[in-house]
Parts: sequence; C-alpha cells; structure tokens
Amino acid sequence: MRKAIVVGGGVGGLAAAVALHRQGWRIEVLERAPAFTEVGAGLALQPNALRALDALGLGAAVRERALTDPPLGIRDQTGRWLIRNDLAGLRRRYGQWALIHRADLLDLLLAALPAEALRPGVEVRQVGADGTVVHTQGTATADLVVAADGLHSVTRRSLWPQAPGPRYAGYVTWRFIAPPRPVEGSVESWGRGERFGYAPLPDGRVYCYVMANAPRGAGGGLAELRRRFAGWHNPIPALLDAVAAEHAGPGQHPDEHAVLRHDTHELPDLDSYVSGRVALLGDAAHAMTPNLGQGAGQALEDAVVLGKAVASADVTAALAAYDRSRRPRTQRVVRRSHQLGVLAHQESAVLGTARNTALRMTPPSVYTRSLGSVLSWTA
Ligand SMILES: Cc1cc2nc3c(=O)[nH]c(=O)nc-3n(C[C@H](O)[C@H](O)[C@H](O)COP(=O)(O)OP(=O)(O)OC[C@H]3O[C@@H](n4cnc5c(N)ncnc54)[C@H](O)[C@@H]3O)c2cc1C
Repeated sequence: MRKAIVVGGGVGGLAAAVALHRQGWRIEVLERAPAFTEVGAGLALQPNALRALDALGLGAAVRERALTDPPLGIRDQTGRWLIRNDLAGLRRRYGQWALIHRADLLDLLLAALPAEALRPGVEVRQVGADGTVVHTQGTATADLVVAADGLHSVTRRSLWPQAPGPRYAGYVTWRFIAPPRPVEGSVESWGRGERFGYAPLPDGRVYCYVMANAPRGAGGGLAELRRRFAGWHNPIPALLDAVAAEHAGPGQHPDEHAVLRHDTHELPDLDSYVSGRVALLGDAAHAMTPNLGQGAGQALEDAVVLGKAVASADVTAALAAYDRSRRPRTQRVVRRSHQLGVLAHQESAVLGTARNTALRMTPPSVYTRSLGSVLSWTA
C-alpha cells in the first residue's frame, strides 16, 4: 500500500489526508499542536469549496452543520447598501454557500480518517525531496509528502530556500464570536481603511471579523475595536458591546481572550508547488489575504485535485499534473484577493467616495457574473 505523510493537520492537510485515504493510501498526519484544533472563529465556504467537500464525501454533513445562505452584500459605515446581492441569482448560478464554525469542519474531516493516521504533538523539522521527513519523534519516509504546514511552512523553507517569505498586506485582522442575537444575514461594511463583517452561525451566535490598515504588529484588542466602530451602523456597536459584556467580570481580560488578532499576509508566487515527492498544499503554497474568503476553499480544491491525480498516475506524473492544474488558478485567486483588499482598504475620502458611488451603480447581475471564475470550479 502506498504511504503518504501529511505535514500539518489544518483544513488543507486533513482534506488532503481524506482525499488520499479514499484512494486507498496509508496516511500519517503529523501535527505539531498537542491536539487537532482550529481557531475559534467562523469560516465561509463558497460554492467551489462546497463542491470540493462534496467530492470528499463530506458536503452533506457540512451543510447540516452550516447556514447555507449567500452573503447579503456590502454596506457603508452608515448602513447604506453599496452592493446588494441578487441572492436567487447567486444560488441559481453557483450553488450554495455555507457558514460554519471552524471546529465543526475540522471535526468532520477528522471523523473521515482512521484514528491511527492522526499524530498530534509531532513537529516536523525538515523535509527532503526524496520523501524523508525529520520530526521530533524520529525520521520517516513516504512515497508522497503533502506539505500543508501553513503560512510559515518549514517544508517550503527546506525545499524552496530561495523563495521569498510571506508579505505583510498592510492590515490587521481581528476575529471573534459574539453571543447569540438575531442578525439579518452575512454582511460586510466598508469605511475608510477599515471594515467590519458579521454572519450568523447555526447556533445563533454571530461570527464577526474586522480588518483595518495598520503597521505590522499594531492594533489593540476589544477596547480599540469598540472605540473604532462606536459610530458605525447597527448591529456593529451592539455586537462589540455584547462580546465585552460576555467577557467582563472578575479575573477576565476581554482584550486578551475575546478576540483573535493577526497580521495579514500573502505569499508571493512560487515557481512550482512540487519538489520530487513533495507537494505544497493550502496556505503553505498560496497563502492569500482573507478578502475573497477563499483560502480554505482553495486548500480544499487542492486536496481534491491531488487525490484525483494520484489515483491515475505514478507520483511524479501525478504531482506534475497537480502543479499544472493548481498553480495558475490559486495564484490568480491570490492576486484577485489582493486587489479586492486595495479597493476595500481605501483611506482617501475622495477615492473612497468615488469607490462607493461606483459600487452603488454596479447592477447586481454584473457583480454576480464577476465572481464566476472563482466560484464556478468543479471537481
Ligand atoms: C482572518 C481570516 C479569515 C479567513 N476567512 C476565510 C473564509 O471565510 N473562508 C476561507 O475559505 N478561508 C478563509 N481564511 C483562510 C483560511 O483560514 C486558510 O487559508 C486555511 O485555514 C489554510 O489552511 P491550511 O491547512 O493550508 O493551513 P493552516 O490552517 O495554517 O494549518 C497548518 C497546520 O500545520 C501545522 N504545522 C505548522 N508547522 C508544522 C510543523 N513544522 N510540523 C507539524 N505541523 C505543523 C499547524 O499547527 C497547523 O495546524 C481566512 C483567513 C484569515 C486569516
């Protein structure tokens, strides 16, 4: 039986493990964290991502744990619509969206794998193109190594030593989950150099994310968010107040525990996602800004394509096919996500007003069609 080692047990690594397991491969997933976990936040899965999950046999289970409405659109900070999506048109053209808690998606991926394939608490130190993996519990070899070790991939540094590292995108991201309250649906609101998104989760809680222009490492916690967004349209201040209230009390530190804060990075284009028996996958290959909500979706697509490629060819030919298929598409998505960030994070009042006017004048059907190249992917 052919053996694959998967480095990293995030969405990308586990999806690749499921795809290979379904092809009859013996799998070992090496994850440095002591347990397989995801950050406490929501995840938007767009129609292409759901089709990838369908191909992995998990689409129905994901839909059961998710809300499947498309996003309502984009407002300005006063609440005025800039883009109001044609929901029926989006569904008809592309299929369903899903908003799921990250931990739920991880649970479903883990449940699709044999327990003996999962090795938490093992950190990979080095990977060789011949399929050798050096880790904290020894050295192993495999017919195929899938490097899904994320933005700061050790594998990428081992085998692509000349490749430039991640690039800071110019804005900081915060994520948190607010206590249950009714919200209209999934909405993003744009101001000047900052924006706020919220989306209901199936259990009534509300997944919120914020992005704001700031130097790398800057940006505070919940107190800063409440200050920044105090004058924005409802329910934004109310969501922030609710999180603060939930984490108030003796011994609690809302700024430390209530919100996740990250610098936003993207990866410059690599010349190849493949070296010998090793394939980069997910953020390790093509980390992107979160503007399009496509990072996990592209990792899921990678996993499906890799699984299909190894089903019908030897490892060398399969990895060449994987690289040919995935690199152009994912690098286009990285660029498109970057461009959307430039538009969304406009700080100039004049350009911001011009942007908002142009968006308000764009017919929903034009916006719907513009998403085609990203969302129409099929397995
Ligand atoms: C703010 C924000 C919002 C986002 N929203 C969305 C969204 O709505 N929809 C969407 O599709 N995408 C979204 N994304 C992108 C998405 O989160 C990522 O693209 C996706 O999680 C990448 O998965 P991955 O498995 O490739 O990498 P990761 O999730 O980074 O997983 C890598 C794993 O490898 C492990 N690891 C690392 N190094 C080693 C090592 N040396 N040895 C062993 N294990 C190691 C890590 O512990 C980790 O578990 C968002 C990203 C951000 C930052």
